[in-house]
This record gives sequence, structure tokens and C-alpha cells, in this order.
Amino acid sequence: MYTCEDTINLLLDYLDGEMPLEEAKHLKEHLSGCAPCIDFLRTYRATPGLCRRALAEKMPQEVSTKLMEFLRTRIKSAS
Ligand SMILES: [Zn+2]
Repeated sequence: MYTCEDTINLLLDYLDGEMPLEEAKHLKEHLSGCAPCIDFLRTYRATPGLCRRALAEKMPQEVSTKLMEFLRTRIKSAS
């Protein structure tokens, strides 16, 4: 099962048009039971591309916090 962090990252790729079928399946499984991610997706899809960066600042606090923690971890492990 994917975490919210995984899901948000995949969503960003998916909505730009690139996602393997297998990944999309896991994504849908997570979305079927995770309200914060569903809200994020719903808002994101209604937002023009140029506004997506601004939207990232408006995502639910819980998702935002987890995403930032996740990114920090990724950045650390990459350096
Ligand atoms: Zn989620």
C-alpha cells in the first residue's frame, strides 16, 4: 500500500500524463481510502498548470507536513 507521500508524488507525475499502469493501480487503491489525497487530487485537477505551484502551498496541513518530511528524507539520502 502506498503512503500519502508516495501518492502525492505519483499524482504529480500522473496528472502530467506519465504513469505506468501498475503504479496507477496502487495509486487508486490508496485514493479509495484516503480523504486528504482525494481532496488534493480534486483541487489539483481543477487548477491550471501555472497555478499548481501555488496550490502546493494550500494542500492539507497533514499532507503538506508529511510531504515535506518525505522530501527532506529523500534529499538527505541523495546527498
Ligand atoms: Zn493519502
